[in-house]
Amino acid sequence: MSIKINRYKCGYCGTCVGVCPKGALELVETWLEVDEDLCMACGICDRICPVGAIEVIK
Ligand code: SF4
Ligand code: SF4
Repeated sequence: MSIKINRYKCGYCGTCVGVCPKGALELVETWLEVDEDLCMACGICDRICPVGAIEVIK
C-alpha cells in the first residue's frame, strides 16, 4: 500500500510532509518524494492536502 501523488495538482506546499507520522514524505527541491517502504497508507496526508493531490492506493 502506498499513495499516489497527482503532480498536476500538487503545489509542493509541504503541508503533507509535516503531518506524516512515518516521515515518508520529503520535498526535494520542487518534487515531492514518497518512501513506499515507510508509508503505511494511513491517509493523513490525503486528508490534509489542500488541493486533493494525494490518493491512497491499496
Ligand atoms: S499537501 Fe498537497 S499540495 Fe502540498 S505538498 Fe503535499 S501533496 Fe502537494
Ligand atoms: S499515507 Fe500516511 S504514512 Fe503514507 S505518506 Fe501519507 S501520512 Fe505518511
